Amino acid sequence: MEALTQCWFTRVHRPARARRRQSDGSVSSTCRYCERTVVSWDRENWTLSNGLDVSRLVETTSGRTLTLVDTPGDLIIRRFPVQHLDDEDAVIAFKLQLCAEYGLDEPGSMLELRDSALPPTKRKPRALPPASPVSRPRPR
Ligand SMILES: [Zn+2]
Repeated sequence: MEALTQCWFTRVHRPARARRRQSDGSVSSTCRYCERTVVSWDRENWTLSNGLDVSRLVETTSGRTLTLVDTPGDLIIRRFPVQHLDDEDAVIAFKLQLCAEYGLDEPGSMLELRDSALPPTKRKPRALPPASPVSRPRPR
């Protein structure tokens, strides 16, 4: 059994000297007591990167999500974590399920499903309809 560190009791983590600035404005480091990855938004309060701030950090850590976006306003409608899915096939099946559920393939749909594991796709120009339908596998 691991020895319990100070921060296990106090929930106050002390970052090591080395810190990395993240693209989203947070700073990550390693706790000098428990040696786990900690993150701070204000450089004073440090939380475990897989702890309380998980919803905010889910995209900057290993957590992969599918994000349902309303493209005209770039409005995030829902995020779906996929960490629990076993493999890529399960993720694809989940995507197809969401596509069907939210009618993403329907003509005129403004919704888009973005996969945090993939590079962002180029925006389709809204004025121009696609020249030819992209062939993509349909469920069943
Ligand atoms: Zn700690």
